[in-house]
Amino acid sequence: KAVMEKILWRRSLHLRDQQHAWQSSLEGREMLEFRKNLPAYKEKDALLTTISQNQVIIISGETGCGKTTQVPQFILESEIESLRGAVCSIICTQPRRISAMSVSERVASERGEKLGESVGYKVRLEGMKGRDTHLLFCTTGILLRRLLVDRNLKGVTHVIVDEIHERGMNEDFLLIVLKDLLPRRPELRLILMSATLDAELFSSYFGGAQIIYIPGFTHPVKTHFLEDILEMTGYRLTPYNQIDDYGPEKTWKMSKQAPRKRKTQIASTVQDALMAADFNEYSLQTRESLSCWNPDCLGFNLIEFLLVSICESEMPGAILVFMTGWDDISSLKEKLQSHPLLGDPTRVMLLACHGSMASSEQRLIFTEPDKGVRKVVLATNIAETSITINDVVFVLDCGKAKETSYDALNNTPCLLPSWISKVSAQQRRGRAGRVQPGECYHLYPRSVFDSFFEYQLPEILRTPLQSLCLQIKSLKLGSISEFLSRALQSPELLAVQNAIEYLKIIGAFDESENLTVLGRYLTMLPMEPKLGKMLIIGSIFNCLDPILSIVAGFSVRDPFLTPLEKKDAAEAAKSQFSRDHSDHLAIIRAYEGWKEAERNFGGYDFCWKNFLSVQSMKAIDSLRKEFFSLLRDTGLVDEHSNTYNAWSLDERLIRAVICCGLYPGVCSIVHNEKSFSLKTMEDGQVLLYSNSVNARESRIPYPWIVFNEKIKVNSIFLRDSTAISDSMLLLFGGSISKGDQEGHLKMLGGFLEFFMKPDVAETYQKLRTELEELIQM
Ligand code: ADP
Ligand code: MG
Repeated sequence: KAVMEKILWRRSLHLRDQQHAWQSSLEGREMLEFRKNLPAYKEKDALLTTISQNQVIIISGETGCGKTTQVPQFILESEIESLRGAVCSIICTQPRRISAMSVSERVASERGEKLGESVGYKVRLEGMKGRDTHLLFCTTGILLRRLLVDRNLKGVTHVIVDEIHERGMNEDFLLIVLKDLLPRRPELRLILMSATLDAELFSSYFGGAQIIYIPGFTHPVKTHFLEDILEMTGYRLTPYNQIDDYGPEKTWKMSKQAPRKRKTQIASTVQDALMAADFNEYSLQTRESLSCWNPDCLGFNLIEFLLVSICESEMPGAILVFMTGWDDISSLKEKLQSHPLLGDPTRVMLLACHGSMASSEQRLIFTEPDKGVRKVVLATNIAETSITINDVVFVLDCGKAKETSYDALNNTPCLLPSWISKVSAQQRRGRAGRVQPGECYHLYPRSVFDSFFEYQLPEILRTPLQSLCLQIKSLKLGSISEFLSRALQSPELLAVQNAIEYLKIIGAFDESENLTVLGRYLTMLPMEPKLGKMLIIGSIFNCLDPILSIVAGFSVRDPFLTPLEKKDAAEAAKSQFSRDHSDHLAIIRAYEGWKEAERNFGGYDFCWKNFLSVQSMKAIDSLRKEFFSLLRDTGLVDEHSNTYNAWSLDERLIRAVICCGLYPGVCSIVHNEKSFSLKTMEDGQVLLYSNSVNARESRIPYPWIVFNEKIKVNSIFLRDSTAISDSMLLLFGGSISKGDQEGHLKMLGGFLEFFMKPDVAETYQKLRTELEELIQM
């Protein structure tokens, strides 16, 4: 022990010497000058004193004031200074992997080091961390995983939870766990950091924890809404109050005044889009799908128009464009690159900033462009608070956001774009006023802004809780409802009960809410339980490839595009891929068709002809690989055998596996003279979403339909469905037993008989052994 202490002492001395050497070097002094100008630096002493005297503190400050890069660094420096360098261990969580990576790199360089020395990072499947790493940036999911094996966070001295104002599910979840941990680890320090918001809420959650505000400063920002922007194009947008059937904020009328040539084009497409979309939830979808087919779509066109007029103006400064996701960003970037001004790299530096960009691209965002070159950054809401681009003067805000990450332990990978909150819109606007007075263009009418919620609802209150429940059980945190009742804002009891009930029905929980074998496997897969279950069953029954395509296909934006003006042609194209009453099989065929065409360099043409999104196809391709490696890691498939695709061509089998995943999402088909109707047990009559292949049929030669989800608009609509037979439902609907081995085997036996495989006996035996092994794990 004495030897160990001596070693640690020596290391601590070494760390301090290193730190001193850097601080007195020329570069080190320059860096310190930069840091001293950040508002956070002025609070350094107050911060450190408060941290030493309190177990929990909350730091709130304007984006860009230096919370993320400075606070963890202050702690590290002061620990090193007081010769505790070798024994301190600081963990700082970030909601996104990209911020964990870029921030750690920045902090390492501010310390004159390479990544992986005293500063490192860890995100899923990647990391840079050495023996001497004492400050680790990681995603929230990584810390949750660590808690799985190390409940007391042994050896950790400081936990910093960043960006808590975002109120992601993982962060809210982590806070409950940490709150429980604090009494067991009295010397552990917990620091919560947030943009200027809600600090009191967090403070009272931790029994009145101390709050430190870092004062910030922003220049005034001139604000324009859609009506102001359209006026620049020679058109005017006025509310169309008379038609009250549609509600006041949804209806708009364009009144022409002095149309001009180029501008006419823009405004008339704006008009079409507004009319078609009513500017409700639908508008973005319209805009997105139009974007691939018709370059004159609303959003992209307006953005291009604004970019050009800013670039042609005299006022210098970078432009930041807020978009919904990387697919949107890449289509816009492609479009802008062919523009004579915006696509000219000697005049415009066009960059993207989103969760899945490469780190070389990341670094470019912080570089200053050459003189006379204008920087334009197309970003997701990642640039709202996580990443600060220094020289922004103009902001364009599309008003919507979505999460596209699927790396977090517990994320539902596919979220649709939805309107942001007022606070987010203000935050976006504020990005324009960091260096000088700026301008912000919101691409939506003022009344739409007025209808935004003040704050975004925390994720825990607006998303299904199934994955969260699984995670609570895998962390052995006791009763789910009791645990969740201690959240910052608890979800409704009913939502919790629904989730638990669902997990019991699909066989992930047994009757007393314990994880079954299936449940345990589901906790290892990051997608929704129904898709996870489909993957597991698909690998057990050796038809993995098609199931991978389905699961990947539903984890990206709908690959089937339906541009408004070519709706019929698009729907007919989709039906081509499925003459057999299944949207799921249509995805498989579309993907396989694309893949084949891609091999002959015809991928793009194929998509164009068949109304498919190229971006979605590429995304499916890479997700398939990622999901495959996850399955390999869980031991469900053996990479070196090729049996996992032995039955991949058996369509009936695939249909049955789909049913197994989607149950209890099932409704019965009632045929009448000319058509059919659908009924579920709990809702009565339901309808099919118009883009389902089944919606175009007048007869379906099956008695049942399984579906991905129900959506309530005026009536209840089913999204993405597959028709199935009685025996499929009987054998594979319902839990594959609630965790008991016998049930598994019974299903297996029935299954094999049903499919009358010629090699039944042999396969049965083989599967039986596999399954028994699986159950014993
Ligand atoms: P906060 O967390 O309070 O929003 P940060 O600590 O992220 O602020 O950033 C503080 C300052 O450091 C910002 O002004 C930003 O411009 C600068 N900065 C952050 N990351 C980088 C980077 N990778 N390269 C250059 N400057 C950066
Ligand atoms: Mg930050």
